[in-house]
Amino acid sequence: MANGIYQVPEPQNESVRVYAPGSKERKEAQKVYDELYEQSIEIPLYIGGEEIYTRDISVITPPHEHQKKIGSFHKANQNQVELAINSALKAKSQWANMAWESRAAIFLKAAELIAGPYRNEIIATTMLCQSKTIYQAEIDAACELIDFLRFNVFFMQEIYKQQPKSTAKVWNQLSYRPLEGFVYAISPFNFTAIAGNLCSSVALMGNTVVWKPSDYQVYSANVIMKVFIEAGLPDGVINMIYGDPEMITDTVLDSPDFAGIHFTGSTTVFKGIWKKIGQRIHIYKSYPRIVGETGGKDFIVAHPSASVEALSTAIIRGGFEFQGQKCSAASRVYLPLSLADKVVEHILSELKTITVGSPRNFKNFVTSVIHKGAYERLKKAIEMVKASDEAKIVCGGGYDKKVGYFIEPTIVVTNNPKFKTMETELFGPLITIYIYQDHRFEETLKLVDTTSPYALTGSIFSQERLPIHKALKLLENSAGNFYINDKPTGAVVGHQPFGGSRSSGTNDKAGWSLNLLRWVSPRLIKEPLVPDLDYRYPFLAED
Ligand code: NAD
Repeated sequence: MANGIYQVPEPQNESVRVYAPGSKERKEAQKVYDELYEQSIEIPLYIGGEEIYTRDISVITPPHEHQKKIGSFHKANQNQVELAINSALKAKSQWANMAWESRAAIFLKAAELIAGPYRNEIIATTMLCQSKTIYQAEIDAACELIDFLRFNVFFMQEIYKQQPKSTAKVWNQLSYRPLEGFVYAISPFNFTAIAGNLCSSVALMGNTVVWKPSDYQVYSANVIMKVFIEAGLPDGVINMIYGDPEMITDTVLDSPDFAGIHFTGSTTVFKGIWKKIGQRIHIYKSYPRIVGETGGKDFIVAHPSASVEALSTAIIRGGFEFQGQKCSAASRVYLPLSLADKVVEHILSELKTITVGSPRNFKNFVTSVIHKGAYERLKKAIEMVKASDEAKIVCGGGYDKKVGYFIEPTIVVTNNPKFKTMETELFGPLITIYIYQDHRFEETLKLVDTTSPYALTGSIFSQERLPIHKALKLLENSAGNFYINDKPTGAVVGHQPFGGSRSSGTNDKAGWSLNLLRWVSPRLIKEPLVPDLDYRYPFLAED
């Protein structure tokens, strides 16, 4: 038992490496990428400390080179999903009763393993399997994941410190118990950091987990699992499985011990899961916690006083980095007529300097989209715009899948503020611009608020304060993360807690203590130090 009130280290954000030409870090990262490119890895299921090779496999191919096989992963059947649930339940008691500082030590060690010996591997697998440029892989798979692990440990301690008032006579204590049962984590393809955070944040608070990563992120998920094991995570605390997502989810949700879900992915999938939980509510031992961060249709709105250069940079970075496949990516832009030509011209001249291709070539700013389904979705949208008389493509509009799933950075200008590409999440390098009359700024803000069902991120650009103030008010519920004169992407753990509302999710703010609170069920313990011995209150005595 701990005879001390320990302090976890003050969390620091991991420094971002820049991978400049000729640098040691660049050469090392390239070397690991090339080695993994030549290998063919087999990724097992991780259940209760066992690596299980089921022989029912899916092949892993880089999205930017879809004919190249770089490995395969073994998929679970229903029995193996049940095994994962049972393994999580078996590991629960020992894990929940482990001293919190031991749990903290495991995840702090995991952070340092990623910062050091595993950094190149987690970056290279993210580049290979998710087609991120070196910089995008660095800020996601290395820095953001390290930050999640360090900051969550700190937030856990902050939560545990919160205690009710006591008096000399009555001592009140709050114990932050993990949830009864096990938690299900489902992660998306687009952030290695989110994948690592969804399972580890829950486990950190004393829960055990069945984790299902996306088929398109399995390679870097495997590195995360190896890191957790090397950091000392006991068997069965996090069980990683993949396979048919519906079968896995249905099997998990059929368990009476299902205690909660930590989901990030598309809105449709999350709503479907919520409905299934509702249909089974009578079978559960407790009310499951439902936490989901989902889609977005993120906006940039510019006032006539906006800086053209700052605005154009935000549109390019916010819209096209990682091929527009960030949930926070800018995809609808509102420009005042007086600025529109200048901004579009500026963007077009900048886009001429952008090349599209494999992330192995560090000159490429844009690489491929994640898979054939994404490619076809974007191709269809581009063709729809080409056929429409309400919109025109001013830049890009090309696509090619001979080698990889490449979509050119595309800018559409529409005269219909409710045009399909202004409303629907397309999740690719396609931005739609609507140009408004300068005097209609306030009306435009109302339009921004009512155009899409989502409310994840958004930006206002203005060099005057009054328009910023108006936007803050009129767009109060239009975005969970709101940016002033900045792109709507790139939230940093501990600085910009992340999440949106409306159809964008439950807004439980990943990278902040609010999220961790969802994974505990506090127990209040009251103790009168000298208990009363007589039921009679003084008022009962005779006058
Ligand atoms: P997705 O919804 O296709 O998949 C997410 C996860 O759900 C994957 O593990 C997938 O296998 C699983 N899944 C798919 N169908 C399922 C089903 N029927 N039942 C149960 N599970 C199922 O999303 P994606 O393509 O991996 O990621 C992109 C989406 O995620 C976008 O909509 C994006 O906006 C969103 N996203 C949101 C945030 C956020 O913080 N708000 C962050 C990242 C991504």
